[in-house]
Amino acid sequence: MAKRIFITGIWHETNTFAHGQTGLEDFQNYQYAEGDEVFALFADTNTEIGGVMNAAMELDLNLIPGLFAGAVPSGLVTAAAHETLVNRTLELLANAGEIDGVLVHLHGACVAEGATETDAQYLAAIRAALTPATPLVATFDLHANLSEGLVAQADALVGYDTYPHNDMAARGAEAAQILHRMLWSTRRPAKILRKLPFAPPPQMQGTGTEPVASIMAKMHDMETWGGIWSASIAWGFPYADVAHLGVGVLVQGDDHGHASRLADDLAMTIWRQRGDFDAGLIAVEEAVRSAIAAPEGPIILVDVADNAGGGAPGDGTTILAELVDQSARKAVVVLCDGEAVRNAKALGVGAVFSGNVGGKSDDLHGPPVPLVGEIVFQERVRYQRRGDYMTGQRIDLGEVAVVQADGITVMLTEAKAMPFDADHLSAAGIVAETQQIIVVKSAIAWQAHFRTFAKGEIYVDTPGVCASNLKRFEYTKLDRAIYPIDNDGIWPAK
Ligand SMILES: [Zn+2]
Repeated sequence: MAKRIFITGIWHETNTFAHGQTGLEDFQNYQYAEGDEVFALFADTNTEIGGVMNAAMELDLNLIPGLFAGAVPSGLVTAAAHETLVNRTLELLANAGEIDGVLVHLHGACVAEGATETDAQYLAAIRAALTPATPLVATFDLHANLSEGLVAQADALVGYDTYPHNDMAARGAEAAQILHRMLWSTRRPAKILRKLPFAPPPQMQGTGTEPVASIMAKMHDMETWGGIWSASIAWGFPYADVAHLGVGVLVQGDDHGHASRLADDLAMTIWRQRGDFDAGLIAVEEAVRSAIAAPEGPIILVDVADNAGGGAPGDGTTILAELVDQSARKAVVVLCDGEAVRNAKALGVGAVFSGNVGGKSDDLHGPPVPLVGEIVFQERVRYQRRGDYMTGQRIDLGEVAVVQADGITVMLTEAKAMPFDADHLSAAGIVAETQQIIVVKSAIAWQAHFRTFAKGEIYVDTPGVCASNLKRFEYTKLDRAIYPIDNDGIWPAK
């Protein structure tokens, strides 16, 4: 008879510097499913559960879905929301009957109010409800801040190997295969975690470019060695002020000594190259001038600090204000501004919009910018991602309005638009390919699609809760010096 596998997950990348908290409704409004609804949410998607579903058919596993809850990266998760999600998961697990194995989909950088190690506590709660022999395998995001406490709660863990994360389904399938091996044997891998006092900005964590590409190649080579089950590098999410912030190297294998040597080797390789992770940002005035002067567009102006996928509000105005000042033409900016959208909706298409846009959620991402222009589009926008990244994901931007102000097109949305592709633009009638300048509020994820047609890219030194310059932030939970925040840091620890 097919083995019964409980699959479940709580996924949140918490920016503890972000304004506001993340409540239950933020999960319910983004991704929330119980039981068979989980299948409906993820079937044929390039996500962990999408990959698990395909692998389960090949491996003849009977999947019993629990609860999956994911929220857009944002501020601290409320204690009440996290407790509700964990308790509901445990309730579904208790009602699931006899379970032979468990797959848990984590982010690894979730921080709930009052908890020191949120993801570890979540896994521990599930672990405590299982018999000790029941195998539990967890997946985590490349941006996880791994800890010994977390690693101890799973029999094995598999992290994404790509950023942009286009291998989620493949890693889900890998986790299912590892779990499958454990179902038929009592053998478990030794799990060796090496934590480095090093927090590179996400902007420098792209796996398709150096310095990360060669390091990942070295890691993949290790995975082909005999006795090694799986290796992952969690590059860390530096906007979570937690004691376990930083890069984690995880090697899992039959032999403790062998896995330790490989983990040390990989960790030392990263540590020696820490100086190569400098973000090289361009001042906003110079960035806008270069983009206007470029002979051919589109030029992508990357607003990393207002990374809508990293917990920033997505309403930062620093680049928009400069585009207005320099009278840019054929420039597109997307801002999350529900108030402006509602005003535009009341006026209707063809009317003149006049009001302040953006900069309303906090005072860290530039002040509101006065905007006057024709409303050329106004509709509720929903779409399904067609690009390589998060393919098939269903997106609801709420009400959307597009205001044409001289040469600048401002798209106003009720929900944050994460620019993993240009589908949000085309859904509002904006043709990305014919623009001179496109502002993306993203660190790396935008590259998967926009690089297929962009003629240039400039990383802009803007202020905000996802700034690449980590010295802008005040960390209170770190218990050691960490590079580059403190310039130094010591490894191996004495
Ligand atoms: Zn990530």
